[in-house]
Amino acid sequence: MDDHKHIRDTLLTRKQALGERISSVKADLAQQRPADFSEQVTERENEDVLKAIQQESEKELASINRALVKIDDGEYGICDRCGRQIAAARLKALPYTTLCVECADQ
Ligand SMILES: [Zn+2]
Repeated sequence: MDDHKHIRDTLLTRKQALGERISSVKADLAQQRPADFSEQVTERENEDVLKAIQQESEKELASINRALVKIDDGEYGICDRCGRQIAAARLKALPYTTLCVECADQ
């Protein structure tokens, strides 16, 4: 289980960065400025981008939390859906993934 310590640290660091990013996106979204029509369009586009970033970040954060639970349960690297071992290369690229490549493609 010692080899999971590094992964755990990586996940915790990433978790903190995501938490900060989500907070700053939420703060930006909360800033509603009065604007004329053309500015409102730009504002609207910015808002969509920010919301997309927020959604992606929250999704990744949820995966990280799930991966951390799996480390604690001694199930890290096991696919949530099919129960098979997730390929090491995939875990290296996406340490927070909880699905094997086949299940993630579905
Ligand atoms: Zn699977």
